[in-house]
Amino acid sequence: MNVRSQISMLFHLDKCIGCHTCSIACKNIWTDRKGAEYMWWNNVETKPGTGYPTKWENQDIYKGGWKRKENENISLRGSGKYKGLLNIFHNPYLPLLEDYYEPWTYKYLDLIESPQGDDQPTARPVSLITGKSIDIKTGPNWDDDLSGTPEYARHDPNIKNLSPAEQEAMFQLEKMAMFYLPRICNHCLNPACVASCPSGAIYKRGEDGVVLINQQVCRAWRMCVTACPYKKSYYNWSTGKSEKCILCYPRLEAGLAPACMHSCVGRIRYLGVLLYDADKIQEAASAPDDELIDRQLDLILDPFDEKVIQYAKENGVADSTIAAAQTSPVYKFVKVWGLGLPLHSEFRTLPMLFYVPPLLPVMASLNDTDNSEQSGKLDPIAKFWNRDSLYDTSTNALWGTIEQARFPIKYMANMFGVVNEGVIKNVLRKQLAVRLHRRSVTVGDINKTLVEDALSEVSLKPDDADDIYKLTSLATFDDRFNIPPAHREQALEMLENTSDTKGATGFGFKEKPVRGL
Ligand code: SF4
Ligand code: SF4
Repeated sequence: MNVRSQISMLFHLDKCIGCHTCSIACKNIWTDRKGAEYMWWNNVETKPGTGYPTKWENQDIYKGGWKRKENENISLRGSGKYKGLLNIFHNPYLPLLEDYYEPWTYKYLDLIESPQGDDQPTARPVSLITGKSIDIKTGPNWDDDLSGTPEYARHDPNIKNLSPAEQEAMFQLEKMAMFYLPRICNHCLNPACVASCPSGAIYKRGEDGVVLINQQVCRAWRMCVTACPYKKSYYNWSTGKSEKCILCYPRLEAGLAPACMHSCVGRIRYLGVLLYDADKIQEAASAPDDELIDRQLDLILDPFDEKVIQYAKENGVADSTIAAAQTSPVYKFVKVWGLGLPLHSEFRTLPMLFYVPPLLPVMASLNDTDNSEQSGKLDPIAKFWNRDSLYDTSTNALWGTIEQARFPIKYMANMFGVVNEGVIKNVLRKQLAVRLHRRSVTVGDINKTLVEDALSEVSLKPDDADDIYKLTSLATFDDRFNIPPAHREQALEMLENTSDTKGATGFGFKEKPVRGL
């Protein structure tokens, strides 16, 4: 067992209100400068939607992440050593500026400096890159709240295996369902960005797992931009270096929360330590699709287990880090309660940020799933179903609202379950059981046997349900933010010389660090 520690974030998607405060906080601190105007290290997308950069989840376009080969090994999909060499002067898989957007500002001075005239002065948009006037065609949150519109939701890569009927159920404008998806770099355990860098400029810090780009070593190959399937590595056209989310490590080292978390209005973010077994990374990353999530979660170790503690100490993990892992809110959500899932595990980078899928308000459900019959009834121009009996709002079974959700489970399974709907149903059932339990406690109008059945079916006890409720709804900042003091002495010793390990995924330190600087 090779025990290492990682600072990890969990996003509770039911709580996100899509206010973008997190994005603005990050922008103001880190990317409000030349060459970084178009970068949003933290962005918040509306789902269903195409996201930023557009259709980033479609690896047929961008060739990000890893793919499993027939011999069960994995290789970078679009930016390995030889593929990189072939694309060295022209990389066809890089997102273009129009896939992000051309950043702009307005000529505000025109509002106050225009000569007096008959017309109202206007502040015209100008490109932040060229300084010339532009017609704004798109932006990083252009599809905000536009779930169901033809241009955005209908081009979401996650709807690919939904039947026409299921898609239309999501898109009916008056009954539209959507949720917000905040995204930052996942500080992965098998980071494709690290593996793809020909210069060895990207590394994963040993003491907390933060993935960073050494600006002095970066040579602008931009292989990391292609390799990251989440498109969270960006190229700065002014400095000629790539950049990415740094998990606000200077703030973490000072005991402060990352700016996105600190400013989060919905209090949806939780930050804590996870201990994991680095010996199992390769096995987990190359597991068959249907085992990917389980194998990734198996990597995360029980911080109370004596053996884990012993191996952690032997590896130089500080006592304070182990103590933080034992009280980590992320550990509770992900391992103890089984509510947190990684985003798009099938990209095989082993993302170390987790999401609680949203238990959306269930308004209605679709009762007719004969695809061929229904696709014939789809109006190709107006894009609506010319039949009004498609929705069934009955919920005759305990889990009826989940099983017949109008927002298809299949869609969320494409995002968080590697197409396995059972994984999503299990998480949603747990959340619903907690709601039933709390309703029974506070209002008392639900049959007690029903509540007991609901809890036992998802292997939760009333105390568990109360704990989940407290950490979800009543948690203080200290409950949500729980990291150990920074250990700079480890930070220095745990660094690898990444130029010695080019092509490796940089799991941080490989030797036990020498103590006592
Ligand atoms: S591959 Fe993972 S660690 Fe690397 S930039 Fe993308 S999300 Fe971050
Ligand atoms: S600040 Fe929090 S609630 Fe607002 S969009 Fe960001 S993650 Fe969601």
